[in-house]
Amino acid sequence: MEHTAIVWFRNDLRLHDNEALTEAIQKAQRILPVYVFDTRIFQGKTPFGFNKTENFRTKFIIESVIDLRENLRSKGSDLIIRVGLPEEEVFTLAKRVKSSWVYCNRERTSEEVKVQDTLEKNLWKIGQELRYTRGKMLLHTADLPFPVCQVPDVFTNFRKEVEGITPIRQPLDTPNVIPNIVFDKDRGVVPALADFGKSEVICSHIENQKMIGGERQAISQLNYYLFEFRLIDNYKETRNALLGWDFSSKLSVWLSTGCVSPKYVYHKIKEYEQQWGKNDSTYWLYFELLWRDFFRLMGKKYECKIFQQEGMREADISGNTDFLLFNNWKNGTTGVPLIDANMRQLMATGFMSNRGRQNVASFLVKDLNVNWVMGAEYFESMLIDYDPCSNYCNWNYIAGVGNDPREDRYFNILSQSKRYDPHGDFLRYWVPELRDLPDAYIHQPEMMDIGLQVKYNVIIGKNYPNAIINTSKWIS
Ligand SMILES: Cc1cc2nc3c(=O)[nH]c(=O)nc-3n(C[C@H](O)[C@H](O)[C@H](O)COP(=O)(O)OP(=O)(O)OC[C@H]3O[C@@H](n4cnc5c(N)ncnc54)[C@H](O)[C@@H]3O)c2cc1C
Repeated sequence: MEHTAIVWFRNDLRLHDNEALTEAIQKAQRILPVYVFDTRIFQGKTPFGFNKTENFRTKFIIESVIDLRENLRSKGSDLIIRVGLPEEEVFTLAKRVKSSWVYCNRERTSEEVKVQDTLEKNLWKIGQELRYTRGKMLLHTADLPFPVCQVPDVFTNFRKEVEGITPIRQPLDTPNVIPNIVFDKDRGVVPALADFGKSEVICSHIENQKMIGGERQAISQLNYYLFEFRLIDNYKETRNALLGWDFSSKLSVWLSTGCVSPKYVYHKIKEYEQQWGKNDSTYWLYFELLWRDFFRLMGKKYECKIFQQEGMREADISGNTDFLLFNNWKNGTTGVPLIDANMRQLMATGFMSNRGRQNVASFLVKDLNVNWVMGAEYFESMLIDYDPCSNYCNWNYIAGVGNDPREDRYFNILSQSKRYDPHGDFLRYWVPELRDLPDAYIHQPEMMDIGLQVKYNVIIGKNYPNAIINTSKWIS
């Protein structure tokens, strides 16, 4: 008997190392690839009222879907596109083509689980089955030396238990041909940003010029970072920088949408090491990918807790929901240059460096004493690379409700600013009001007397805000 399988693409918008696609091709004679733009994700709100997905990530996903469709077409297949609820749209298609199975990458976070569970139950009603595959992590859960419920809570312990013991499997090949199905009518069109009520993205900054969705762009950025410019060779030294494109891999945007598989990245790093030799930096890129796996495992282990204010530790934590304070943070008008520069970058581009994220998160939680969930939801809304586990577990970590073994971690924003942007280049780029300040005042404009303020065209409280907290606590 011949079988038809639906491959429901989710955050795995690629043909290489795609377990769902590979397994479907092995089992079925006809394949129907499908992507559904979930209206809850593209038009819904977070509990604190932010758009669930802002225009930056929406644009990136639209581009990724266009690229996926073209790649599927080049293999003799196509991508059926729908806008709506996946549990209904995929179900309708399953009835229409009388498929035997729907294959999809299994998600582990609450909202995504709800969708896949509902679809599964719908399919049972018509005698069909949802078959789950994996593909988000470097490591396979089945290869781990411990069950998920016993994953060590401290990253270093986790790393020591898996490193050198748990193999990182070879990525699966891109299929040469994908068996087609006759499905001529109603293949669906790719929606535009305006269809979700979103404005166009203005690509004035490098982040938006280079962060273009799709598997081909992902592979191209990986090659750029590794083989073309060998930037990986100095990754450990440059990774904490704030301004520019080359200081870190920028792969997160493609990893979070699944345009590139982490196993593929890992094996490319190995290939690079064979060709050019290993060093601390080549190791460190893998080390950071392991953090990503660690947080995904924490999401699996602690489930809904990662989204709650008490966090995975179920800590007794306070935190106000003062929108006045919060909006100063969000709009980059706190009067603290490092915070303002990073938050303006996020608002203008949908991206922020890792060092920036740590500082603004710490400032919101530890200096403004605002409920960390508001910050996490705002990041969810804005970030192109938003990933539920990476985002919420990092926020848990910084808010002190996660798995940071140091309970008193606190970022002195002034020293961070001086250390990671010694000449203020990043500050001047994102806070043009401060452009004329000499290095001596760029990190602390409030230190200038009125004479200097006039001299450098920065009148504190007039054309640059008064700091909303007392910054003298940072001066030792
Ligand atoms: C408060 C906060 C929220 C964050 N939210 C997200 C998020 O929603 N999505 C996301 O992908 N990353 C998130 N991160 C992690 C990190 O900031 C980004 O992955 C990184 O800045 C992306 O830039 P890059 O690809 O150039 O990173 P690189 O420095 O080149 O790192 C390589 C890869 O390793 C992974 N990685 C690096 N650092 C981390 C980390 N701390 N946690 C998890 N994975 C990491 C990413 O996949 C990244 O692409 C968050 C960090 C903080 C502090």
